[in-house]
Amino acid sequence: MVRRAARLGKRVALVIVGLLLFGVAVSAIACWRTPPVQVGAMPDSSVRIDEVTRLHPVTMSRVVTPRTIQDIVNAVKATPGPISIGGGRYSMGGQTATPDGTQLDMRQFRGVVALDTAAKTITVRSGTRWREVQEALDKVGLAVKIMQTYNTFTVGGALSVNAHGRYIGQGPLVRSVRDVTLVLADGSVVSASPHFRPELFYGAVGGYGALGVIAQVTLDVAQNTHVRRDDETLPVASYLDFFRKNVRDDSTVVFHNADIYPPAYETLHAVSYRKTTLPVTIPERMLPADQHAWSHRTAYEMITDWPKGKWMREHLIDPVIFRGNPVEWRNYEASYDVSELEPRSRARDTYVLQEYFVPVDSIGVFVPRMRRVLQEHEVNAVNVSIRHALPDPGTYLAWAPNEVFAYVLYYKQRTDPESRREVARWTRQLIDAAIASGGRYYLPYQPVATRAQFAAAYPRSAELFALKQQVDSTGKFTNALWDLYRPAGDGTMPAMTARHLAANLPAEVRIALDSVKGYSRKEASEYLTHPEWDLVYGSEAYARWLEQAKRPSAFPYVGSVGTFWRSYAGTYEAAKDRYGVDMGTHVMLNVIGVSTAIEYGLKGLYENTIGRLTEWNMPAGGTAEERYAAKVARDYAKLIATKGWYEFPFMHAFEGLWSDVPLTGPGFLRKWERRFALSAEYLVKAAYASIIGAGTAAGYAPDELTRHVVAVGWSEPLDASLGGNAHFTRARDLDRGYELLTVGRYDPYRDALLALSDHADCVRIAEINGSEVVTIAGTAPNAWRTPARTSVVVAYRMPDDPSRTRILLRVQARDLLDALHGLRTGGQFQVEHIYDY
Ligand SMILES: Cc1cc2nc3c(=O)[nH]c(=O)nc-3n(C[C@H](O)[C@H](O)[C@H](O)COP(=O)(O)OP(=O)(O)OC[C@H]3O[C@@H](n4cnc5c(N)ncnc54)[C@H](O)[C@@H]3O)c2cc1C
Repeated sequence: MVRRAARLGKRVALVIVGLLLFGVAVSAIACWRTPPVQVGAMPDSSVRIDEVTRLHPVTMSRVVTPRTIQDIVNAVKATPGPISIGGGRYSMGGQTATPDGTQLDMRQFRGVVALDTAAKTITVRSGTRWREVQEALDKVGLAVKIMQTYNTFTVGGALSVNAHGRYIGQGPLVRSVRDVTLVLADGSVVSASPHFRPELFYGAVGGYGALGVIAQVTLDVAQNTHVRRDDETLPVASYLDFFRKNVRDDSTVVFHNADIYPPAYETLHAVSYRKTTLPVTIPERMLPADQHAWSHRTAYEMITDWPKGKWMREHLIDPVIFRGNPVEWRNYEASYDVSELEPRSRARDTYVLQEYFVPVDSIGVFVPRMRRVLQEHEVNAVNVSIRHALPDPGTYLAWAPNEVFAYVLYYKQRTDPESRREVARWTRQLIDAAIASGGRYYLPYQPVATRAQFAAAYPRSAELFALKQQVDSTGKFTNALWDLYRPAGDGTMPAMTARHLAANLPAEVRIALDSVKGYSRKEASEYLTHPEWDLVYGSEAYARWLEQAKRPSAFPYVGSVGTFWRSYAGTYEAAKDRYGVDMGTHVMLNVIGVSTAIEYGLKGLYENTIGRLTEWNMPAGGTAEERYAAKVARDYAKLIATKGWYEFPFMHAFEGLWSDVPLTGPGFLRKWERRFALSAEYLVKAAYASIIGAGTAAGYAPDELTRHVVAVGWSEPLDASLGGNAHFTRARDLDRGYELLTVGRYDPYRDALLALSDHADCVRIAEINGSEVVTIAGTAPNAWRTPARTSVVVAYRMPDDPSRTRILLRVQARDLLDALHGLRTGGQFQVEHIYDY
């Protein structure tokens, strides 16, 4: 008995292995026969503006690159707005761009205008990078007086954020600015300094381009000297005392910073560079321009990705880097280039900066608060670098109204929307910690603060907006920062369009969405749902085929397997860099793919052998069994569009075949061959479905059947005008103009969006269940070209109609209605599905 059971077990195992090998072989042939297809694109004149982290892309309608002041004047006069100003684009939250606006890209407006060695001043065009300024100064023994650590930024960009560096006895950059030349919104060219039109001077410096374009700048400069490095490791708790005794009032200290080591944030490494007459041990006058190096990249990877990486940084890497007391030129130490920080890729994770400015005395209050937030949220910090700044002389958006320490947090984060939302949550906590400690946060970084936090940190912003009203009454100059924080409805600027609102979700909306249960879903699923849907399309094609009474032997079984694997490969390729794809998803898709290959492979074999033998006996329109099979295939295709395939009542289909379909009729042989073949198919599937169904019920929770859409410009009267049955329901008001809508999944979701796309001129979608990307599947003639702002994830010929291509399109949620409107009116692309995973 036992031996017989073992023998049976062996045979079953052999059959399973045989089937698997068969499935793999069919899949391999199918893949080879289903190549990806290239789809052309319609011309698109819009420009994507990316900043260094790649977290805030903004699509603008054009970029203008002035080379002279007159070019700036002409561009400003000729453009009604909105205009944004771009320097090096190293700010990290869209501060250089606004949706569909014009960017003045200042990088070609560069060069030194005048250098006065006696007065120690230099006048430069604002698009000049600091490196170019340093190269000019170095030749005459001079150096920049105040700038940030990296020399890659433009002078205009640094002035507009009022940057700071590691200098001691200095502070915000404004302290070294003699005067600026501005181009205002009406095209007028004016000068401003602390003594002449000071309101414009203190509004433009640190004003993030709110008042106009900074064209030329005159800066104080310093002597280039030798500096000698020394360093010390000490507890954070002792730092204030150390700083006051050894650094603050020591006029020989040129640069100083102190890096707090994560993850304990208890110890720091203080580094100072003091003027010296000793000969240089590093003869180079400046570092090379390109500092991108394997060693830097690997060190940052070690610190952020390796187990014990932070310990290694503190105990192994830094002791090696900081051995000895090198003597170098001041310009050498001030010539770091951001290329040294550039990782291999920023697709899945990216390095980001934040800064908090807190009165020097408050270190003992702020650091414990900061430590708690960073530890609670397990922030992957490289370090928190402390720098010192003396008070700002009067800029409207001063971050150092008094003497402060800057806490510069450099960390790594994932780029997917959920990770970004998590960063926003703890960033708001850090901002609260800084404000509660009497401090402020820095504005060139991700704009996730609430309006209340912005107002608390920058109490004079109202004065800046009032000044803006005087010199730029139509609000010509704007960018993501001002789109978010400018006052609403006070008449100072034109109303924001739905497009602007959808592109920049304010913190208030985020906070409201955080409280909506089940709101946040994984964006990666927008891609990896498509292979499963490809099977739905395949089943629909099969049902259509049978309904048209075409010969089953001619159905493209292998082609239908091929499109599954092609869509799997294409969507995996699109998702892997950004999100990573977990093993569970791979296992699930492979099981489905191989099962489908076995099913279609066996069916194809059968239909082209035994099935084919009886086809001569098939009456016109098929036998009653064939019509029944077509009906079952249609019901099956309908069911799997919303439920698991294993939920289909195969047993019921089997029973119906024998109870509802007459036993006699034309095409006797074909009839009975079909009857037995269909019976076998339904019975095998019923058994397999019950096994898979039991496993799935144990492993998966049932999915939510509604979807949440964040919209701008939507109203109930507009919804009522949509017609049809598909409508949205208002779930709640989120913030000024933002609504949370709900809609049923699947067809109602698709139909409601398609109907709403007729109003794309006034309504925008910002995101859907936390996803900023939406994918649309459909078919189009082979020569079709993609419209603007959409891109192809994967495309392949339809196996049952080779004159058409099935295409998975990707579009930003904020452009979804425009894209759908274009697809509908274009008439050639038939939308099958808008994924709501
Ligand atoms: C790796 C790294 C290190 C950094 N280190 C420091 C540091 O040590 N200290 C510090 O203070 N900051 C630091 N920053 C922040 C940096 O100073 C700002 O992001 C700065 O704005 C970058 O200059 P940019 O030329 O790239 O300006 P952009 O990012 O191009 O522009 C910044 C802002 O200035 C406006 N703007 C640019 N040019 C003009 C112009 N000509 N007229 C009017 N407005 C203009 C833009 O509209 C925008 O609002 C760092 C940033 C990075 C990425």
